[in-house]
Amino acid sequence: MAMSLLREEAATRAAVVSAVSYEIDLDLLAAAESDQFGSVTTVRFASHAGASTFLQLRPATLTSATLNGNALDLDKVWDAASGRIALAGLREHNTVVVRAAMAYSHDGEGLHKHVDPADGNTYLYATSALAAAPRWFACFDQPDIKAEITLTVAAPADWTVIANGPATEMAPGRCSFAPTPPMSTYVATVVAGPYHSVHGSHQNIPLGLHVRASLADALDRDAEELLAFTGACLDQFHRMFGIQYPWGEYHQVFCPDFNWGAMENPGCVTFRDSMIFRGRSTTAERTSRAGTIAHEMAHMWFGNLATFAWWDDLWLNESFAEYLGHRVTQAVSEYDAWTEFGAVRKAWGYAADRRPTTHPIAGNGIDDVANALDAFDGISYAKGAAVLKQLVAYLGEDVFLRGLRAYFAAHEYGNATFADLIAAWTAAGATELDEWASAWLRTSGVDTLALSCGVLTRVGSRPHAVTVAAYDARGAELGRGRLRVSGPTTAVAGMPADASLLLPDADDDTWAKLALPPATWEDLPAFVAALPAPARVGVSNALRLAVADAELDPMIAAEIVEALLRSEPDEAVITAVGTWALDALANRFLPPGASRESACGRVAASVRELLSDAEPGSGRQLAAARVLIGATDDLDEVRTWLGGAVPEGVELDADLRWALLGRLVARGQADAAQVDALAVEDQSAQGADHAARLRALIPTPEAKSAAWHTLIFDRAASNYELYATAAGFWHPSQTELTAPYVGRYFAEINSTVAIRGDWVVKRLAAQSYPWTHVEQQTLDLAAALLSTSDLADVLRNPIIDATDDLRRAVASRSVFS
Ligand SMILES: [Zn+2]
Repeated sequence: MAMSLLREEAATRAAVVSAVSYEIDLDLLAAAESDQFGSVTTVRFASHAGASTFLQLRPATLTSATLNGNALDLDKVWDAASGRIALAGLREHNTVVVRAAMAYSHDGEGLHKHVDPADGNTYLYATSALAAAPRWFACFDQPDIKAEITLTVAAPADWTVIANGPATEMAPGRCSFAPTPPMSTYVATVVAGPYHSVHGSHQNIPLGLHVRASLADALDRDAEELLAFTGACLDQFHRMFGIQYPWGEYHQVFCPDFNWGAMENPGCVTFRDSMIFRGRSTTAERTSRAGTIAHEMAHMWFGNLATFAWWDDLWLNESFAEYLGHRVTQAVSEYDAWTEFGAVRKAWGYAADRRPTTHPIAGNGIDDVANALDAFDGISYAKGAAVLKQLVAYLGEDVFLRGLRAYFAAHEYGNATFADLIAAWTAAGATELDEWASAWLRTSGVDTLALSCGVLTRVGSRPHAVTVAAYDARGAELGRGRLRVSGPTTAVAGMPADASLLLPDADDDTWAKLALPPATWEDLPAFVAALPAPARVGVSNALRLAVADAELDPMIAAEIVEALLRSEPDEAVITAVGTWALDALANRFLPPGASRESACGRVAASVRELLSDAEPGSGRQLAAARVLIGATDDLDEVRTWLGGAVPEGVELDADLRWALLGRLVARGQADAAQVDALAVEDQSAQGADHAARLRALIPTPEAKSAAWHTLIFDRAASNYELYATAAGFWHPSQTELTAPYVGRYFAEINSTVAIRGDWVVKRLAAQSYPWTHVEQQTLDLAAALLSTSDLADVLRNPIIDATDDLRRAVASRSVFS
């Protein structure tokens, strides 16, 4: 996009502009009726006499702009295409006032407006990341120009308004917020609407939880747990960092149509509101939510207090928040965050690290903010966190924490780089850190570790601190040892020759592909379920990687999954491995027909057993039920459940009913009238999304045509409606029906760039990719599109990644089918 800021431009501007503050005055009074709002920004900053620079704004209409009291001629200074207002003839101290009419967004970026179908209420929230702050106020939008922000909002008198600073005045219809400490524009926010709130406090820090009114009961059920967990996390971060929470109040708002998992705006974190569970939830979902809460709180220091200077150091934010989020959750709660990390997050990261688009953790090479979105991936998050776990083992706890404290003390309210952090650890006593950092942080890809009797073999170049272990044919541990791996081979003592499984990273500590010999794969079904949790997680990741590399027959993998799931205690493993077995193993790697049915049958058999063994009403039972609905081939069973005859303890809530109806719709066993009927019963935002997904899933040419039109051409559809439509469009049992759309995807996807924001464009490119057409012809069409120069930059990486996934399925089928 032409509006995107380049690294060079940012560096030039940072040298010209300093001591910035913004006064933002928003008029949201007509939000319910209007698609626009008023925004007046007063920008004060220091510069050099005679210098020039530019402000950014993406308005519906730019009304006026003044510089130091003089009206600017908009015809001369305003470039609508790039969203830039040129400022020339600057003084030492400058004041710019910009007045504009702005558009509410419906793609989750800028000031998003959502009308809740449950009650017609209007909800607003602003997401400024990565480059959307100019969609609601005029600013120098780059992370290293920090500013004090003072916000005033006119809004309906019965609304709640929340922002980064504490509200200092509340008159009916008008609130103003205290000036914030210096902060980056990408974390500026405002939230407004008839939100339902629960308040609390912890150590004099006011806490708030907020959600739209239709989810009030759901929030109230969990509010006590959420507030207690928030307080415990604050204590833990205070202990670790030695710096008190720096942003005054701490509000957590659960927002509709939210693109990210959450966004760490100082003092006012925004989350996707699917984290407020309207129906039953699993412990795995609550673990993941707790991890997200702790992750966002880590950002209050890592990212918000000390901020990267440019997006190429994104890992300074995300790897640390991901690591600390899991570490703190594990420390202060009963949730097993590290098992969830291994089963869910690491699997995501491994997939990303083996694609053509992989990149080093540190230094992703981003020189254009539009491409920075690509770096919010499994590498910056999961791999970075796994590597930090290794770093703590390398540095020791004491040096790790002393270095961090020094880093915050030196860079609070400012910006810092990778080099600054290395320097802080070195001052704290770390040695040879440059070597370690370049091996782990400046390279991309995954090492392979294999353990045989007496020797651990490494293919790759990185140092590893691991625990090796041996297990017998009943899964009992025969021996273990702690090991530092620094070369191609490492001698290992004490591993018995007759072990059934030799595992190179038994505690799931490092970042590596674990290679197992063919005989071990074949023996695993006999004892995999008896292994300890970290070993089960390690094996499940090794399994997924071996299938993806066409090294392991998917049918053998299905046998291992069946054995693993049959008695799996951990809900995160049940969900992650069960979902992978259906979505990837059965629907991609195995061809349609007998082998796919057999794999689904194995998964269904094992989770059915889990379901009957699990305690009625438990999260484990619910996790098993969800996988079973996707796996079962028995549509009569699906109808029976949908009719209300569910196993004891399973609650037939709205989301479960949508899942069941979806199974019938996909096979042509339920029609649009039944979808409409359920949509009438479930008039929530989630219900609307489910209905959009099921309408796209209906196996008729008319339904596919309508869904495709929405995906490619509909300018008015909201981001969530588009994601739901894409999720329903392709189905592995409907390839005849969707065949004409394979070519259309590659011909038409480029046109979506003109009508949608970057986030939506990228996500839709991935989601609406013809992944069910596992054929060389699809790969050829992808290669042809990727070789053209007119393919928009924002589309390139998602299409490369989706094509790589498809290529792996094609390769596996050619080896094993
Ligand atoms: Zn984060």
